[in-house]
Amino acid sequence: MTFLDTDIFAKIISGEIPCDKVFENDRILAFHDIQPKAKHHVLIVPKANLITAQEVTKENQELFGELFLVAKQVAEKLNLSGYKLAMNVGEDGGQVVPHVHLHLLSSDYKSIL
Ligand code: AMP
Repeated sequence: MTFLDTDIFAKIISGEIPCDKVFENDRILAFHDIQPKAKHHVLIVPKANLITAQEVTKENQELFGELFLVAKQVAEKLNLSGYKLAMNVGEDGGQVVPHVHLHLLSSDYKSIL
């Protein structure tokens, strides 16, 4: 797998590309994955232009932590009793979209991403 040339998620955040939104605040947008691997598959995306989780620092660690808080809120909104959280980090970690995102999959996920 290789990184896509374009940051599709930046285009979703700017409104250039539509999405099926589940949650939004000033820092984070969450929307349904276009090719779901489970009944519920939501992507939780920081609005800041961060490419991979390797960019976590002491300065932005709160934002990374907030991804988990939003995951909990999304799970509550979708009434999920259990779910999987996964993040692909870098091309060799299976990441395709070059913008940090946390996958939330309901418990009927098909496979580990
Ligand atoms: P990753 O392999 O971790 O980079 O995951 C990227 C995810 O983004 C995949 O599960 C794709 O199905 C999903 N995806 C790609 N384009 C879109 C889009 N326009 N709207 C929603 N999800 C998308």
